[in-house]
Amino acid sequence: MPATEFLAPSTLEEALGALGGDDTHLLGGGTALALLLKTGMVEAARVVWLGRVAELRAITELDGELRIGAGVTLHTLSSSPLVRRHCPSLARAAGLAANIRVRAVATLGGHLVHADPRQDCPPVLLACGATVHLASTAGERALALDEFLVSFLETAILPTEVLTYVHVPIEPGRREAYVRFTPGSEDDFPTVGAAVALRADDAGALTDLEIGVGAVGARATRHRPDPALWRGRPCTAPTARAIGAAVAADVAPAPDHRRSARYRRHVTGVMVERALSDAWGAAPLPGTATDPSPERGAGALHEH
Ligand SMILES: Cc1cc2nc3c(=O)[nH]c(=O)nc-3n(C[C@H](O)[C@H](O)[C@H](O)COP(=O)(O)OP(=O)(O)OC[C@H]3O[C@@H](n4cnc5c(N)ncnc54)[C@H](O)[C@@H]3O)c2cc1C
Repeated sequence: MPATEFLAPSTLEEALGALGGDDTHLLGGGTALALLLKTGMVEAARVVWLGRVAELRAITELDGELRIGAGVTLHTLSSSPLVRRHCPSLARAAGLAANIRVRAVATLGGHLVHADPRQDCPPVLLACGATVHLASTAGERALALDEFLVSFLETAILPTEVLTYVHVPIEPGRREAYVRFTPGSEDDFPTVGAAVALRADDAGALTDLEIGVGAVGARATRHRPDPALWRGRPCTAPTARAIGAAVAADVAPAPDHRRSARYRRHVTGVMVERALSDAWGAAPLPGTATDPSPERGAGALHEH
């Protein structure tokens, strides 16, 4: 077998220039790719490690969005003050994934491109309306995460593209939650993960609702239950139960050797109900424009 060439570019431009062939692979933290290479599911003539591209490791608050570099590790995501402030359910999901050894190296870019439906961050990013930004030598494009995720281990990325940033809208007033059910050990992949992003008016009635579900079907999915079930109402227990049932009816569970489709559907309803209850009880997210927090600078706010 020919030796694998290992490149470690220090700029995005260099990284893009190294891409092209079918047997060239980008490397983030390597927690997924290393297993695929080891088992022979993937062959690589060239591996391009993105760990030295500094711009991809930054988290920035800019123009009403949180811009998260693809090279940010799950551990950094879970502990970032900016992420905790503007998308606390993402910080929570990243902090629940796997174990500290994996989180210390696994990157958000590798997480999303690997597209294992059981991963923790996609349901949150779907509920919060995230977009992924892709770059190639031909230019840049942005896709809603819902369009980016195609199926099991499959996304819309091209072999010539690098996932550069994930943008999450900053929405003062949004309330969020992420819950997951892991009947095995705590650091196992979830059987079901459910994320909720909601808004309510001054009278305490729901005005917006987005739900993300992971680990149930071939990919993480976004759900917008019929507004007749919830709009204009407080999120009481019966309302949360009705919404949970609607999402459970909407998912397409993939049975495996451990859990039946019926079981996964049932647990989906329960987890959505719990996420709704958590989000309803959460504090509304703070604003940015009129925010006097000393954390804010005059322009963009950066974290590395
Ligand atoms: C023991 C174990 C337990 C785990 N448990 C969980 C869990 O409970 N919850 C959970 O969510 N996840 C879990 N994971 C999965 C983990 O989240 C993923 O393996 C990880 O997120 C992948 O990130 P990475 O940076 O290591 O990706 P890599 O292995 O580096 O790459 C994965 C794929 O993405 C491509 N890629 C990487 N970066 C980019 C980029 N910027 N642009 C384009 N393509 C890119 C690679 O070419 C490869 O195809 C677990 C993993 C392990 C090993």
